[in-house]
Amino acid sequence: MNSLQEKMFAELQNKKVFNDAQEYGYQYLDCVLERNVYPTQQALNDLKVFDEAMPDSSTGAAGVLSMLHQYGSPATVAQLGGRYFGFVCGSAVPAGLAAKTLATFWDQNTAMYVLSPIAAKLEAVVEQWLQSIFNLPLDTAAGFVSGTSSANLCGLAAARYRLLKSQGWDINADGFAGAPAIRIIAGKEAHSTILKAISLLGFGRRSIEFVETDEQGRINPALIPVLDNSCLLILQAGNVNSGSFDDFAAICKRAADAGAWIHIDGAFGLWAGAAQKLQQLTSGIEYAHSWAVDGHKTLNTPYDCGIVLCADKEALSSALHMSGVYIVVSEDRDGMFYTPEMSRRARVVELWATMKYLGRQGIDQMITTMHERALQFSEAISTKKGFSVLNAVVFNQVLVCCETDETTLAVLGKVQELRDCWVGGSVWKNKKVIRISVCSWATTENDISMAVRSFEKALHIIQTGGI
Ligand SMILES: *Cc1c(COP(=O)(O)O)cnc(C)c1O
Repeated sequence: MNSLQEKMFAELQNKKVFNDAQEYGYQYLDCVLERNVYPTQQALNDLKVFDEAMPDSSTGAAGVLSMLHQYGSPATVAQLGGRYFGFVCGSAVPAGLAAKTLATFWDQNTAMYVLSPIAAKLEAVVEQWLQSIFNLPLDTAAGFVSGTSSANLCGLAAARYRLLKSQGWDINADGFAGAPAIRIIAGKEAHSTILKAISLLGFGRRSIEFVETDEQGRINPALIPVLDNSCLLILQAGNVNSGSFDDFAAICKRAADAGAWIHIDGAFGLWAGAAQKLQQLTSGIEYAHSWAVDGHKTLNTPYDCGIVLCADKEALSSALHMSGVYIVVSEDRDGMFYTPEMSRRARVVELWATMKYLGRQGIDQMITTMHERALQFSEAISTKKGFSVLNAVVFNQVLVCCETDETTLAVLGKVQELRDCWVGGSVWKNKKVIRISVCSWATTENDISMAVRSFEKALHIIQTGGI
């Protein structure tokens, strides 16, 4: 045994470094709900301590952990709390976060059943739970990936495989040269990760036939071209700005009957289907062929957690197929056939724990409450002079603007500087907007009131030229 091994065996045995990690983690949890949502300028400046050359010798474990806590913890964004409304993110349900901690000790590779029976079991169970909660066809396959970027790529790869195969072409073996044409149809408001996936898959973004969208960003069903079995139709559950949903009930069954493959990007919006009051927003999605959804946004699993769902299991596994002489295929679930990766962490543990903990009722309540808090924000800010809301708040997104683009940007900057909450900017119908996304289980009525006050304060400072 060498001295490094000795040191590491001792660390495993005496648990000191793990106790440190836990103690720092608890200190973090103790202040994350109350603290400044964005790191202070001081904390950002202090990140300079990490600028060092690759160390020559091994450092003590205690020093590694304390450096992370001392300089890393203050430079985090308090996404776990209730006043982070930036982008479309999500907090983490405590039981899920704790399950992730346990899974950290397991350190499983979930490529195959033989690598991790527990992960394979949980993936099989959660696959069924997802089919059931989203009302998808039985046998819909799930791949557990890092997020919707990857899930969109996988769903569209399955579509590419099937649409070409049904015209007698094997894309895996023969590539694109000489392949029959595929038409790709998407709304003008398709998320940028859809465009990325289309480029990665070799179609080229210019080949997309974009369909006009309405004032909420929904694809106009009347403008979708006549479809057939050479068509890939890409729809959206939850516009990343307005939160709007395409009219699946009007579109999906007809498109599926015409032979098209329908892919739905439902990163955060697919979860509307799990809340009784919001369910009508996703009605009709069951006629699609592939769906992409995140655990780490609306469901509040820890990062990172995305899922590709595909009703055509063979298309998904063929698109992501790999083989090797050392691969041990089992009777049970081998997760790598449904994901681009081979080695993968067991992110299903947190997903399972979050769903098991919340149950249907808990998920319904959590998502309905996010919607109610978004409505609260929208109603409160609309009554304040100088602010207007530009979208219909059907889910969790609110788009706010001031009287001019200039004021909107100044207020956005000031709100960010005040750090009572964190919101980001966007552009909606050629207007600068402040985008509020309510995605945390922890957001209370009081958090919303604080955020509204912060907006008012920011506008006041701008108008009076104050500090
Ligand atoms: C967030 C988001 C994505 C990308 O998901 P990641 O989990 O960040 O990879 C794709 N589409 C929509 C509509 C989103 O909101």
